[in-house]
Amino acid sequence: MNNLLLQLNEQQLAAVTITDKPLRIVAGAGSGKTKVITTKIAYLIEELKMAPYKILAVTFTNKAAREMRDRVTKIIPDLKSNPHISTFHAWCSRVLREDFELVGLNKNFLIIDQGDQIAILRSLINEHFSHLPELKKYTEKKIIYRIGNWKNDLTSPLEATEECYSGIERAIATLYQKYEDYLKTINSIDFNDLQVLVFKLFNEHPEALEKWRNRYDYVMVDEFQDTNDLQFDLIKFLTRDKNNLTVVGDPDQTIYSWRGAKVDIILNFTKSFSNGVSITLNQNYRSTQKILDLANDFINNNKNREAKDIFTNNATGDLPIIKECESRNDEARYVTLKIKELIKDGYEYKDIFVLYRLNAWSQEFEKEFQNNKIPFQLIGGIRFKDRKVIKEANAFLRTLATQDEQAVERVLKSIPKVGDVTIKKLKEKANDMNVSLYDLIVNEDELHINQVSKHLTTIRNVLSNSVNVYNESKNIRMTLQYMLVESGYIQKLKDTEKKEDLSYIDSLYDQLENFDKSYQTEELNEGSTDKIVSYLQEEALLNSDADDIEAQKVTLLTVHAAKGLENKIVFVVGLNQDVFPGRLSSNSAREIEEERRTLYVAITRAEEKVYITYIKGEFSFISQSELAPSKFIKEFDQDLYQFEGKYQKSSNPFANTSHLSSIKSNQHVKTSAGYEKNDVIEHMIFGDGVVIEINDQTMKVAFSSSYGIMPISVNDATISKK
Ligand code: ATP
Ligand code: MG
Repeated sequence: MNNLLLQLNEQQLAAVTITDKPLRIVAGAGSGKTKVITTKIAYLIEELKMAPYKILAVTFTNKAAREMRDRVTKIIPDLKSNPHISTFHAWCSRVLREDFELVGLNKNFLIIDQGDQIAILRSLINEHFSHLPELKKYTEKKIIYRIGNWKNDLTSPLEATEECYSGIERAIATLYQKYEDYLKTINSIDFNDLQVLVFKLFNEHPEALEKWRNRYDYVMVDEFQDTNDLQFDLIKFLTRDKNNLTVVGDPDQTIYSWRGAKVDIILNFTKSFSNGVSITLNQNYRSTQKILDLANDFINNNKNREAKDIFTNNATGDLPIIKECESRNDEARYVTLKIKELIKDGYEYKDIFVLYRLNAWSQEFEKEFQNNKIPFQLIGGIRFKDRKVIKEANAFLRTLATQDEQAVERVLKSIPKVGDVTIKKLKEKANDMNVSLYDLIVNEDELHINQVSKHLTTIRNVLSNSVNVYNESKNIRMTLQYMLVESGYIQKLKDTEKKEDLSYIDSLYDQLENFDKSYQTEELNEGSTDKIVSYLQEEALLNSDADDIEAQKVTLLTVHAAKGLENKIVFVVGLNQDVFPGRLSSNSAREIEEERRTLYVAITRAEEKVYITYIKGEFSFISQSELAPSKFIKEFDQDLYQFEGKYQKSSNPFANTSHLSSIKSNQHVKTSAGYEKNDVIEHMIFGDGVVIEINDQTMKVAFSSSYGIMPISVNDATISKK
């Protein structure tokens, strides 16, 4: 134990050994906050002889909890029992497993996730509120959010009904009641209930509260800056007047305020605990001086923060590198190249993190790493091609190219208003008529499908027209976009607020657009779908071999998932406008500050080297425009990083789409096909649009239809000037 304590600096030592007052530690990234918690667990067990199971340590993500558990096992390998180290939600579920009866639950209650919530609400609306079409305007997610707020405010369905006057609000309150009744019948609770029910348990059952207060001799909270009011109430219940609480956090790393996290809670700690004491940790042990300089200088751009005075005795290290790339593919190739160099220099794959703001950004890296045999693992995400939304979108292409029954069935399942019963009937009918499912829908007399359901005409038209769209355009992205929009698939994603799925679709469009460009079109025979088939084959080969045996892997993860973690090498990729900060967060100063904190978290994960990349010039469906550097790039002090210019041109001339960047300098370019900026054009598939940017081969057209802004080839046979 002494050895452990000897490693600590003076402030850390105080933070570990003060156990008779509520304690708050506010400190920057990498200053040893989590180390204080893990060492304190050891100190409480070994010096103060506390039973391990009487110690509670909570944090916010499963990965952080696992990391903390690993660190504790490393320092005290021969534990007699386990301290309770978990997330808030997991701890609440532990409490309810024991005291379920007092809050009206049955043993073996289940916890439902958001997908289940949506399904339940949808069926309740269909069953009870079909007379209220206004309710359709509210997406299930909005209703879940509304119900969640009522729950967090401890407002019962009855009280909610009483406080709502407008018809629609009252209907939602009634729906809330029906939803609660339904959850009871299936013996389930949702994520909000976990914390709310523990609050009720503690609030209404003093004997239960006393039991839980006695259960824990000491309580610690990591990442305390991300606590919300309800969570803080639970902590107060457990520790008030017991002087057995240590909380640690960094206000500069609050990145969950959209989930109700309040930075004021950590800042005003002593208002709730009047005898509380505060300790600041100033020494960073994680990162080199150069990395810290960049991170600290950058976070200074946030107005709403208290300055910190941080130093390190670590090596000076190399300047962080900022790299401009020409396309998403070039960015992935650059990172791949750097990884190969790092491995040559003696680093291992496991020393490397690739961090991005959006899960959808991982796709090019997955592909490039796979092709270059770089082992990698994806944390908190499902591989791009395994996502439901991508499987569904690809099923549209498979239906067009191969018409196989599985694909047709998946398409039918994914579009609005077609359910399992319809699909079953269709399959029976196809069987009876001895035709394929595809032929029944597209090629047989329409009467047959009308007998099954009146909702099949749309998909029939989309499938048969898509053949023409493809033959005219020979462009897979355009054809898929036509199918997804016209079938109602995109609208369905929008209606259910599947924002992440929509960004996956945009990422798929990017990928298809590149594939379209790189494919030798002159090889195509009239009417052949070979090109789609080769795309699908390439896609199927990707990530096909199971590689999970390998322990040595590069880790791909979002910045949010990387909170609390550290690694020698960190790549922060996709630092682009409308990506990081995201398109929707660019509005308020408050949101921008949160995005800035997110980038601060990303950079401060690094111990030795940081590479930041962005793309300039390529059109991306994710940003809905030509990719441009994030405004954050300009905020970095130029003396604090080394700039590497554009990444070498890709050897594949078709993967390079930077031609769009030449447009701005010359606004009046006429293309070889005679189009000019501001021309109004008509597109066979997308309708009317205005040319907003142009060069000799590609133009960007803003369509008035729901297709929005898109790149179109000037040689596209399906456009004409109006
Ligand atoms: P974050 O804000 O990112 O969660 P943190 O404040 O929790 O960071 P830690 O992860 O606890 O920081 O520590 C960062 C690194 O510094 C770890 O590798 C840790 O082992 C090391 N470290 C912390 N304190 C010391 C110390 N006194 N001596 C040596 N190494 C230390
Ligand atoms: Mg930490």
